[in-house]
Amino acid sequence: MGDFDYDLFVIGAGSGGVRASRVAASHGARVAVAEEGRLGGTCVNVGCVPKKLLVYASSYAQAFEDSAGFGWREGSREHRWPQLIAAKDREITRLNAVYRRMLDASGVEVVEARARVVGPNTVSVGGREISARYILLATGGRPFVPAIPGADLAITSNEAFYLDELPRRMAIVGGGYIAVEFAGIFNGLGVETQLVYRGDLVLRGFDLDIRATLSDELRKAGIIVHYNSAPAALEQREAGIGLLLRDGGELEADRIMMATGRVPNSADLGLEQVGVKLNERGAVVVDAYSQSSVASIYAVGDVTDRIALTPVAIAEGKAVADTLFGGAESAPDHDNVPSAVFSQPNVATVGLTESEARARFAHVDVYRASFRPMRHTLSGRDTRSLMKLVVDRETERVLGCHMVGEDAGEIIQGLAVALKCGATKSQFDATIGIHPTAAEEFVTMRTPV
Ligand code: NDP
Repeated sequence: MGDFDYDLFVIGAGSGGVRASRVAASHGARVAVAEEGRLGGTCVNVGCVPKKLLVYASSYAQAFEDSAGFGWREGSREHRWPQLIAAKDREITRLNAVYRRMLDASGVEVVEARARVVGPNTVSVGGREISARYILLATGGRPFVPAIPGADLAITSNEAFYLDELPRRMAIVGGGYIAVEFAGIFNGLGVETQLVYRGDLVLRGFDLDIRATLSDELRKAGIIVHYNSAPAALEQREAGIGLLLRDGGELEADRIMMATGRVPNSADLGLEQVGVKLNERGAVVVDAYSQSSVASIYAVGDVTDRIALTPVAIAEGKAVADTLFGGAESAPDHDNVPSAVFSQPNVATVGLTESEARARFAHVDVYRASFRPMRHTLSGRDTRSLMKLVVDRETERVLGCHMVGEDAGEIIQGLAVALKCGATKSQFDATIGIHPTAAEEFVTMRTPV
């Protein structure tokens, strides 16, 4: 591989790019990674990590309220947003440094600049042209904002992490992961929060029972949800920002956040010029091995618009490094990928929804438990958890596990292992529960609904 400056040149030091770089280097490849922003990409800087910290922050509000039922004297609590943001920023700076150390320790060269592809084996970065046997695109995605009049008055999740002060009134447009997570964050922190969604139940694509349960819970938590409401325009007003709706309705808030999906970062990278095929959404088209239409150029993570989740990008990055330098052709497995939505309460899921299962299997059994979590027998909070198993009657295989409730992500992670192993309903039944937990419901549901 001596004819090139590097064996692998990675563009983008987010979850996928960093993992690919480190694994490739561990296989003996000479690797460089270019990053124009901060190390760690969306997840570390404006995604999973700061989001979860804000979710923790906002969830104290409920905990304080609930504590009264357990004998704690109620007291007034005041949240200090600038302190939270400063603490969050310190943690992210620490993580940026951890990423830096990890890359340095792996022998990966970090180039702090934007790179462009100028040939199948050449990138241009910081005024230099660098050759590489392989190029890996790991440039991620960014928020998509619909092109409506006044759209520039809105913020996206990128800015929500850096607001100087907490608004009094917040309106969030969208009904996906980011919309429901931020609705919970702002609502928990005491902001009057409205969610504006064009559909009739949040989290399209998730199991219907989960969607219905979360929709109820958002309302019970005090979030004002407007369904079947699509944004038409934003306008600056004296008292705030007006959001005009397509059906003629309108509302007003101090901040309006668009959580209307994300798009791949594929523009202005020179991709079309070198013949890298993009799809209609601008995503790099790749095969099962993450190879693009140009043999020496690979792509992983959100820029490929497959499953936009950090652990998936990491798996894709590792598979590319193993394929190219580890002597083991390796394709990432996109089946039974679990995921959690850090709404309040959490949602988590792995496998098929009931309707997906019914479309694929002749006989599907569904097991469902809906209950008031034990904590709230004393707190008095009106909230319910839902657990659901979707089973193929013929083989008894569990096809899907779904949950709305506290720590759903922690619980479904374990069940995802069971699904990966092809667990059957009898094996779930033969598993002894841990009492008293919510999770034990998953092994004690006996009668299909
Ligand atoms: P999603 O695709 O999940 O949701 C986008 C939402 O915006 C949908 O409700 C969609 O409506 C709505 N929407 C899209 N276009 C418009 C429009 N023009 N006008 C009005 N509404 C619109 O995207 P997110 O931005 O929430 O998140 C992007 C991805 O990032 C997620 O899909 C997920 O893969 C990942 N993510 C994962 C997280 C996690 O693991 N916890 C957290 C955050 C993000 P409709 O349903 O009708 O299409």
